[in-house]
Amino acid sequence: MIRLAIVCPCYNEEAVIGRSSERLLDLLDRLTAGGKITSDSFVLFVNDGSRDRTWHLIKALHDENPVRFKGIDLAHNAGHQKAILAGMLTAVRTADAVVTVDVDLQDDIEAIGRMIDAYNEGYDVVYGVKVSRKADPALKRMTAVAFYRLQQKLGVETVYNHADFRFISRRVVEELSRYGERNLYLRGIIPMIGFRSTTVDDVISEREAGESKYTVSKMFTLALNGITSFSVKPIYSILSTGLIFVLVSVGIGIYVIASLISGTAEHGWASLMLSVWFVGGIVLLAIGMIGLYIGRIFIEVKHRPHYHIREELD
Ligand code: UDP
Ligand code: MG
Repeated sequence: MIRLAIVCPCYNEEAVIGRSSERLLDLLDRLTAGGKITSDSFVLFVNDGSRDRTWHLIKALHDENPVRFKGIDLAHNAGHQKAILAGMLTAVRTADAVVTVDVDLQDDIEAIGRMIDAYNEGYDVVYGVKVSRKADPALKRMTAVAFYRLQQKLGVETVYNHADFRFISRRVVEELSRYGERNLYLRGIIPMIGFRSTTVDDVISEREAGESKYTVSKMFTLALNGITSFSVKPIYSILSTGLIFVLVSVGIGIYVIASLISGTAEHGWASLMLSVWFVGGIVLLAIGMIGLYIGRIFIEVKHRPHYHIREELD
């Protein structure tokens, strides 16, 4: 039996906390009765700098049931990813494993039981994978799919259609704490850590109350982090563009010479034509070369851990 912590990030969620806490308590009680988790397993709410009564409500829940409901209050709005990280790091001080789930409980929390089963079979990470995105607005659905594709093209290792509904064991959280980077994109880092992982189906439902706290700008920042924290391909592509320009300028050179010989060239056109392509190409090549070095610096300054030990025999 494990001591489980369910970590819920909350940003201005006064409209959903009451209902969600009831559903989570019911789930914890059922899992406890089923012998899957200990009776002191708990929900950890992370108040991500809310400006409404969210923290007040979390405190009230804790007063009512201090064993099942715990909370941490972040000093400012650190963002979804950092709120989750804070919650996980706090939770594993006492819990054996954590499940992270958005407090609006759009994810299928019944999958948590199956996640624990997978853990007992030896998996350290269990990803909730959305099997149907019907509840998501069409635009969100389309941009999300395009984004997963783009990440795959750029070589970022992520789990298709997985957001941040996942189960991870304490030791993976401990490995995660070795990543010193500021721009956290958990969906990319957790697969990078490795360890045995599997997936469970997650049927998404609609938000029961309140509005989406993921504004377009927050989503855009997340997407940008998801690419730029893991891939240097965008800067490296400048180099290949520069090469193409230089090659094109050779072709243009031949064309210009041919025009000069046949006498169809305007005065001054040849030198202009050639320099635009040739100089442009050289400039891009130079920027690309600098980009190569910046790419290295970028990777080095992250100070990511070199390895993760799965098992040690002694
Ligand atoms: N959230 C957060 N900090 C933020 C924005 C959102 O902790 O700055 C939380 C929010 O309270 C919720 C989760 O992140 O628990 C996901 O947000 P939401 O459900 O609004 O996003 P959506 O489901 O629309 O993607
Ligand atoms: Mg939501």
